[in-house]
Amino acid sequence: MRQEGHLGLSLLLSAPFTLGIALLGYVEASFLFTAVVVWFASFPDVDIKLQKWTGKNGITGLKDLITIKHRGITHTVGFAIGCGTVLSSFGFLILHFILVLSLFDTLLYTIILFFGAFLGVLYHVAGDIVTVTGVNFMPSRRDKNYALDWFNFNNYYGNFGAVILGFTAILLAILTGVSGVIDIWAILLFISIYVVFVPLWIELSKRSNKKENGTTSEFAKYTNIRYLIRQLLKL
Ligand SMILES: [Zn+2]
Repeated sequence: MRQEGHLGLSLLLSAPFTLGIALLGYVEASFLFTAVVVWFASFPDVDIKLQKWTGKNGITGLKDLITIKHRGITHTVGFAIGCGTVLSSFGFLILHFILVLSLFDTLLYTIILFFGAFLGVLYHVAGDIVTVTGVNFMPSRRDKNYALDWFNFNNYYGNFGAVILGFTAILLAILTGVSGVIDIWAILLFISIYVVFVPLWIELSKRSNKKENGTTSEFAKYTNIRYLIRQLLKL
């Protein structure tokens, strides 16, 4: 998925938790959770940069030690656990020693930080698995990519749909969570996002992708910057 698609999907998948945490009475914690998830939803693609540094033309010394592939190590459950552990450890130190919160609040926010980072990374991986290329998340099987192959990473409906659904879900979750008033229509709409609109979105994206794949060169052409410049020069 593209960056905005990852953002949308992470909001969509975290909204039920955001709502649940807020309804339990921890509104600030629900905001923190959402923010951390969003923050980590784009983090695994840091491997694109690391790939450059550790690849063939990378930094001497470093590239002999380690080689990082895109959609490899940073797209694994282990990396998700690592991110959660590092962030929550730092968080714990700050909450306990600098902000001097009560033991309950310190533990609550530490847990929130862990799961925010952990789920953020997993949601990113989920966003990559639905695309054609998929993810190589089994370190033992370096040759195999796991892909649902629903749509291409830059499929318009796939990405745009995730943004619309994600922002609608999080808006409903926040409004309901902050007010603490359970409006039956808001809850029904919230549920319908997941049981009606998400399946519709997936189906629509898959279908558009089939069409798109039939005319891959055409579609790629229209989004190609060189093609656009050539068309402009022709005018
Ligand atoms: Zn990725």
